[in-house]
Amino acid sequence: MRKTFFWLLLGCLVVLVILPSLILTLRHEPKIEIKNLGVGIRVKMQDSGKVVVMPLEEYLVGVIAGEMPAVFQLEALKAQAVAARTYTLKKVTSDASNSMHPNADICTDASHCQAWMSKTDMRRRWGIIDYWRYYSKVKKAVEETAGLVATYNGRLIEPVYHSTSSGRTEEASEVWKYSFSYLQSVPSRWDAQSPRFNNATSFTFQELDMRLGTNISAVPVSSLNSQSLIKILAKTVSGRAKTIKIGARTFSGTELRRLLDLSSTDINWTIKQNGIVFLTQGYGHGVGMSQYGANGMAKEGKDFKEILAHYYRGISIETW
Ligand SMILES: [Zn+2]
Repeated sequence: MRKTFFWLLLGCLVVLVILPSLILTLRHEPKIEIKNLGVGIRVKMQDSGKVVVMPLEEYLVGVIAGEMPAVFQLEALKAQAVAARTYTLKKVTSDASNSMHPNADICTDASHCQAWMSKTDMRRRWGIIDYWRYYSKVKKAVEETAGLVATYNGRLIEPVYHSTSSGRTEEASEVWKYSFSYLQSVPSRWDAQSPRFNNATSFTFQELDMRLGTNISAVPVSSLNSQSLIKILAKTVSGRAKTIKIGARTFSGTELRRLLDLSSTDINWTIKQNGIVFLTQGYGHGVGMSQYGANGMAKEGKDFKEILAHYYRGISIETW
């Protein structure tokens, strides 16, 4: 009886899982034509250092795969595709050559330009069955927005984005030196659905002193009270920490986030016997489009244009 069950189970496995995946493996790439639009992008590969020239729309498939979870709604992926295309064309058409890679328009270092995944990386990350499904989906997002960019007063925008906001996005001038009227603080109530919404990071007083150059660990614990130890002195327009005092030193919220590798500048904390637990909400700088917010909007039936218009106020979507 058990043997029969085993063979039956094995048979099901072969028919339902192994055979389809073999068929998919033997097939070529899903045949969806991508318009080249006549733009060849010079991409510097972070791992090899080589510069590879590829069609814009093909490059964008790798960017979307690297920058946003492929499991996200199609309309969110399309919003990301327009943002990525805008960013790329801004780089390509910029007069200033980039000192980090003067021979390339853009690089695959996410901390400098945009993340990018090769098909090999996609297969490795997603597995062969999901690769076929997700590759087609990401390609569709690029194809259905082919040539579309976001502009403000006829110029390409700075399409900055982040993983998860804290219920409100941040105004650009609170994070960087520049401000744009389309990068203002807007509500983003979908963020709470993100697995990266609530984060906690613990430090001992000694660790804080090392990272911040403070002298907290020298103060007797009995004389420490929360107000003298840590205090937010000013908040940004979105309610995040603008200026924060720790021990005798004062930091900007963005500076503290960088020094402590915190997930955002929406900072709260709990003081323990020998250290501080920082409780942050959101993930990233908080400016522009929230990716999880975009996904939440798409789940509610909003299309990519509505998503982009929500996070980048007053922009136009037009063909480049
Ligand atoms: Zn770069």
